[in-house]
Amino acid sequence: MTMETSVSAERAPTNAAPPRASTADLAPVLERLRAAQRARGTVSYETRVAWLDKLEKMLLRRKDDIARAISQDFGNRSRVETLVAEVVVTVEGIRHTRAHLKEWMTPRKAEVSWLFQPGRAEVIAQPLGVVGIISPWNYPIQLAAAPLADALAAGNGAMLKPSELTPVTSELIRQMIAETFEPDHVTVVTGGPEVGESFSRLPFDHLIFTGSTQVGRLVMRAAAEHLVPVTLELGGKSPALVGRDYALATAATRVVSGKLFNAGQTCIAPDYALVPAERRDEFVAAYQRAVAELYPTVVTNGDYTSIVSERHYARLVAHLDDARAKGARVIEVNPGGETSDRATRKLLPHLVLDATDDMTVMQDELFGPILPVRTYSSIDEAIAYVNDHPRPLALYYFGNDKVETARVIHETTSGGVTVNDVMLHIAQHDMPFGGVGPSGMGAYHGKAGFDALSKLKPVFYQSGINGTGLLRPPFGRMMNVVLKLLLND
Ligand code: NAD
Repeated sequence: MTMETSVSAERAPTNAAPPRASTADLAPVLERLRAAQRARGTVSYETRVAWLDKLEKMLLRRKDDIARAISQDFGNRSRVETLVAEVVVTVEGIRHTRAHLKEWMTPRKAEVSWLFQPGRAEVIAQPLGVVGIISPWNYPIQLAAAPLADALAAGNGAMLKPSELTPVTSELIRQMIAETFEPDHVTVVTGGPEVGESFSRLPFDHLIFTGSTQVGRLVMRAAAEHLVPVTLELGGKSPALVGRDYALATAATRVVSGKLFNAGQTCIAPDYALVPAERRDEFVAAYQRAVAELYPTVVTNGDYTSIVSERHYARLVAHLDDARAKGARVIEVNPGGETSDRATRKLLPHLVLDATDDMTVMQDELFGPILPVRTYSSIDEAIAYVNDHPRPLALYYFGNDKVETARVIHETTSGGVTVNDVMLHIAQHDMPFGGVGPSGMGAYHGKAGFDALSKLKPVFYQSGINGTGLLRPPFGRMMNVVLKLLLND
């Protein structure tokens, strides 16, 4: 996007009212993209591959700028976390898509009923047009670039609205996209909730929103005005359910690695643990040992990421205060003997024992390094607890018993599952990624993303010689014979 068409509502460091982008400001931008998309006509395989190549190269070439920008926005973001979660995961997704694109674009042969033979039927994948993408701050590159890759693979144009909470990274996204794509093909609009609201009112051909369930509701309502189809990638409380027979040290290490990656600011981070009652203390000790092993220090540790903003830091502290006030036992896990540092927003990992459903730690998605540990006495009770609560984005089960594993997978409903580890289902590009119920709607990644952002158009080719004349009046004897056959008369 060129500077002239950039619409920004980021707060200026003055008392002047910030510029606001209204739907009226943004509508001509979308109209320009739509006109360009129409002029493009059919978008060939070669063109789409060239777009994906450009996106991949952009991410690889600018990886150091990306790591710097995100770290500046967060206060500290582990460089390795950025390279893995923002660059590698996204680029691997692009490579998977490119390797399969030809196959996905090939018209899909469809079966033709004997009544209509020798006609021919197929489903073709056609670009939808222009896709809107609203993304959050927690993985600001991945969650803008991965939906963009799917939109490009499906032959679309795209308009992006990254988060105002990571202004340096959002500005970098704007610049990188402007350098990489034609301004009437892919464009970036920056700004806060007001811009997001105007953005979500635009008549896109599809809108992908990644963010909170609360804002997801507003986005879907706004999109309904123009009947814009939405993919909603939302959040929720993802449980880590530890089976009776599983090695606690292994389970604890894996839960710690998921909980403390990006300091817990991950949509699919294990939110709380469900452990057998008689093994709770053992699990708590194993968790503390695992933290000490993975993060011997926190505040001075470059591998440990800061909480993104003062508001989010205060939100997490308030969760701990609420839990303490309502009788929970809160354990600060502090292997380096440090103090959580508000200035750098490094929050020490915490465990919350005896958490009850009236505490905010068991009500809200935590999105931070706090792990409530709940207990269960039977697997039925654990499954019932999950099913009594809103459907989570992810569920993790640790166990070796095949029957119990199958029960947990089949008797609970969640966006996705990783067995005997955490979060890894998101990195398998041959599977759809998305939530269910309050954790989301629709899916993307790989073929699921390609299909979601394509019009899968059924086409029937009538043959020169055919029997469909029978279906037209005046209906003769032959039609009666056919009807008898069809109706089993
Ligand atoms: P958020 O909902 O506050 O904001 C997301 C985006 O929406 C931002 O760009 C924001 O500017 C914009 N926005 C704000 N108000 C808007 C409005 N009224 N209309 C339209 N857009 C608006 O979310 P966040 O705090 O940036 O991200 C954290 C949340 O995102 C968590 O709940 C997390 O679980 C979820 N998340 C989900 C996934 C997933 O893949 N399912 C991935 C990452 C984060």
